[in-house]
Amino acid sequence: MTAARTIGKQLPRNILRPNNKQHGPGVKQCRCRICDKTYEYDASLGTEFCGRPTCRWEALPNEKKIKIAIDAGVGKQFIRNGKVPTIEKFPLDIEVGYNQSTLLVGPVNTRKSWLMCCLAVDALRNGVQAKIINWSRFKRRVRSSYQPAGDETEMHIFDHYNRIGVLCIDDVGVGIDDQGRETKAAVDMMYDLIDQRYFNNQPIHMTANIDPGQLADAYGPRVARRIREMCTVIPMTEVAK
Ligand SMILES: [Zn+2]
Repeated sequence: MTAARTIGKQLPRNILRPNNKQHGPGVKQCRCRICDKTYEYDASLGTEFCGRPTCRWEALPNEKKIKIAIDAGVGKQFIRNGKVPTIEKFPLDIEVGYNQSTLLVGPVNTRKSWLMCCLAVDALRNGVQAKIINWSRFKRRVRSSYQPAGDETEMHIFDHYNRIGVLCIDDVGVGIDDQGRETKAAVDMMYDLIDQRYFNNQPIHMTANIDPGQLADAYGPRVARRIREMCTVIPMTEVAK
């Protein structure tokens, strides 16, 4: 990323400062230190960076990026050398981005969760809220909301996740029984999550250690159809260490 490298670089002398009036009365032009574009001064933006989300993200100190990523559910094991995982650093032949839904399939140790974290970070740096949830834990949370003493309702949980720009669901294959089926309650939960996002045009990313055929058997035709309509299936293969 050339943009990141320009942080902290000495500003060239011809940079227009906000008090520079050469562009006419009242017009104050600044140049963004990240993307190098000129922008009109605005008190909320300051004089260093333009309002583009990617520039605001690049300008953040690493510790702040890490905190935001961890809050979004990025596993600490994916924070390496004090940096958040990025798509650019992930070895993958095809182009992926946060706004194109994916289903990452493959056995364990194929870096599915790592790639999903990269996609979540990609959303964050573009100013889009992202959240990574673990499918088993999500099901448990919804189930516990059925208890009379539960402190949240099922509706609250679904409302919350439906509002999140990019939802990432880790380990979707977990919880399938010996016959290769999910419970009816879990199938309904999955359908509710996906269907809302389908109609709101909100991306979803999922990892599964079973193939799309097994996933269709486990979740039934309604869920399978939605996944097919929304997601690019990305088979992940084991990498030599
Ligand atoms: Zn910029």
